[in-house]
Amino acid sequence: MFVDKAKIKLKAGDGGNGAVSFHREKYVNAGGPDGGDGGKGGDVFFVADNHLSTLADFRYKRSYAAPGGENGGSKRCTGKNGDDLVIRVPRGTLIKEFGTGRLIADISRDQPTLIARGGKGGWGNARFATPTRQIPRFAKPGRQGDELEIELELKLLADVGLTGFPNVGKSTLISMVSHAKPEIANYHFTTLTPVLGVVRLEEGASFVMADIPGLIEGASAGVGLGHGFLRHIERCRLLVHLVDVSAIEGRDPVADFETINAELVAFNSELAQRPMLVAANKCDIASREQIGAFADYIKGQGYEFFEISAATNRGLRELVGAVAAKLAALPPILEFEPEPYMPEEVDPQAFEVRGGEGFYEVDAPWLQSVLAGVDMDDYESLQYFQRVLVQSGIIAKLEEMGVQEGDTVRILGFEFDYVR
Ligand code: GDP
Ligand code: MG
Repeated sequence: MFVDKAKIKLKAGDGGNGAVSFHREKYVNAGGPDGGDGGKGGDVFFVADNHLSTLADFRYKRSYAAPGGENGGSKRCTGKNGDDLVIRVPRGTLIKEFGTGRLIADISRDQPTLIARGGKGGWGNARFATPTRQIPRFAKPGRQGDELEIELELKLLADVGLTGFPNVGKSTLISMVSHAKPEIANYHFTTLTPVLGVVRLEEGASFVMADIPGLIEGASAGVGLGHGFLRHIERCRLLVHLVDVSAIEGRDPVADFETINAELVAFNSELAQRPMLVAANKCDIASREQIGAFADYIKGQGYEFFEISAATNRGLRELVGAVAAKLAALPPILEFEPEPYMPEEVDPQAFEVRGGEGFYEVDAPWLQSVLAGVDMDDYESLQYFQRVLVQSGIIAKLEEMGVQEGDTVRILGFEFDYVR
């Protein structure tokens, strides 16, 4: 089964916590603070890998996390940074935010793209030492790494897309003009995976051709197999529409041609403007009249027409030459412009205050990690903690709710008397 969509979870590494530690040496009893900083959490990057052509791996593993930074240590030891995580995807994979569908990145180029940022490490207590505060018994917790749910969607990168009914000879054609080895069989829907072939020209140039699974009537409405594959055509610079002119399957070549075109346009109306060459295949078993009538019709519509037999190599040189010439005059492969990416702004210091009339309770889970780095029996530490309460707006909120001198304020299990 060809997988070209996947939903996964990413978690960048959390920053390590800063350390609270004091210098200790024989005969020196009051050493200075020497707690080191926490290390940075690992980032999550995505990189294009030409050896991959499906997103199948992501069906089995759906959750990816970069390691966190280590905590700081004594003697000003900085915690080790978490390693970055690099996730390899097929070239042409789009990364979208799950839920909103907003495009975060198009993994089409060579350089790795940063998608989830690791948290910064917290400062150790050594950083908080000042001439007037010589014994800081507090340190900062590390920041959390980004966490997000994304959708991967593969839109293959190919210069040329082959379109046409099942069994018209698309796989045969690509196998004749490139080293690609698609499955060729005389029944419909043999092609379940788009196949990319590199077509090399004599002058050393090359282009990429994609054999896109058979379109059938109703594909754009999701009927049958073709629908999901249509998106791979969206990026092709040129379409080669292959038609079985021999009518060996009992269909009319003109009707085939129109049906497929209607499917393309129904899927994405811009495809109507996409440059297209038309190749009549199986000319080895078609009559001159069949070929002539179809050629007249196609030329009458203003398309360039080619008479080929993929199975016997007839006309393929001319077709490949015309494709190359056409491509030379066309703009490069479409890349999707990501929308400016701003990870959801979660207020890192969100809180809730409940109560009134003498008793208030503050709910702020993030304060837990601040408290963990604070010694409640130490005056300097308490002052630091109070500053955090002021800076985060908790004090202002309490005042707004009418807190009075001497009221009880409970924060994460600790009870304080409110003092102005
Ligand atoms: P696809 O479904 O469009 O990929 O078609 P395939 O390449 O799998 O071909 C379908 C059938 O048509 C196979 O049996 C091929 O051998 C046959 N075929 C393909 N090209 C030609 C051709 O030029 N002449 C003849 N006679 N048969 C062909
Ligand atoms: Mg095929």
